[in-house]
Amino acid sequence: MRSGLPQPADNLGELEGYHSPQVDVEVRLNTNESPYGPPREWVGEVVGELERIDFNRYPDRSARALRQALAESHGVDASQVFVANGSNEVLQTLFLTYGGPGRSAAVFEPTYAMHSQIGHQTFTNVAVGQRRDDFTLDLDEAKRVIGDASPSLTFLCSPNNPTGLAEPRETVDAVLDLAPGLVVVDEAYGQFSSWTALDMVGDDIPLVVTRTYSKTWSMAGFRLGYLVAAAGVVAELEKRVLPYHLDTVKQAAGLLALRHTDDMERRVAALVEERDRIVQALRELPVDVWPSDANFVLFRPRAASGDDVWQALVDRSVLVRNCSTWPRLENCLRVTVGTPDEDDRFLSALREVLG
Ligand code: PMP
Repeated sequence: MRSGLPQPADNLGELEGYHSPQVDVEVRLNTNESPYGPPREWVGEVVGELERIDFNRYPDRSARALRQALAESHGVDASQVFVANGSNEVLQTLFLTYGGPGRSAAVFEPTYAMHSQIGHQTFTNVAVGQRRDDFTLDLDEAKRVIGDASPSLTFLCSPNNPTGLAEPRETVDAVLDLAPGLVVVDEAYGQFSSWTALDMVGDDIPLVVTRTYSKTWSMAGFRLGYLVAAAGVVAELEKRVLPYHLDTVKQAAGLLALRHTDDMERRVAALVEERDRIVQALRELPVDVWPSDANFVLFRPRAASGDDVWQALVDRSVLVRNCSTWPRLENCLRVTVGTPDEDDRFLSALREVLG
């Protein structure tokens, strides 16, 4: 019998997979989830739906009811909505459709690491531009990178993870004019921001807006995300995604969640208020803090190493995201907005750590 394992494809780029330690602590503020569960009524409705599902049958392959309801909620057509297992699978399907060998994607760092990661995994050339020191996008830099790489995908992230600010509408407009291929605006945190690029989508516009149920809908455990784009783009994605990729339970759960939009909006408003309170409190501490339009805040201790502060917080049972070793984010930490109690725990632990 032959022994030994074959070499895997060399497609990880500089990244070694997705690392966010799942440490057992009392206060988990590291992965930008909602600290609140979804409404109890929604849970009851999902349980009721389980009784009615024909589990011996494959799911509706085109997820018609869910896409129709999402389309109505955004004032677009169902043919302009694509749904998948979390917005990461949405992003992956974009790469499988428009990326690949001989093609490029442009990203502007620091930004969401999975944009480059999935680029590498699909053998897409990743062209990296740099944001300014304040992490806003310099259009001259965008022009240079897009001009050199001629990308078939150009990524913006609004609000940008991990830095926090939404891209201004004028920036999205300008990048649409500069880029030769699709412009993807990742709006995983879109509901926390004061504006969305959704109303710029149209059937002859090369613009894609991605969204997720993981943050504002309190459904990270369900893995459901979607995009809104030209019907022609959605039709191409449908050809590449695995058949029956979105199970029946998830389709039902996502549809039922939309009945509770008011509840979601109340949770978002409460988190925005908490976010602003955290920013205010951080401004009184010896840390640099960046403004945020999302449900997280990036900060940098001025006189202590990010690693040490991260560990000292873990020792006090508070977990934040350690971005200290990420390019351009030396010593930075990112805290997700939690409940008022969790945020108080974080702030008092940080005050203690910083002396
Ligand atoms: N985009 C951004 C900017 C994110 O921060 C995340 C989650 N960390 C995702 C997409 C992926 O979210 P999900 O796959 O849970 O929908």
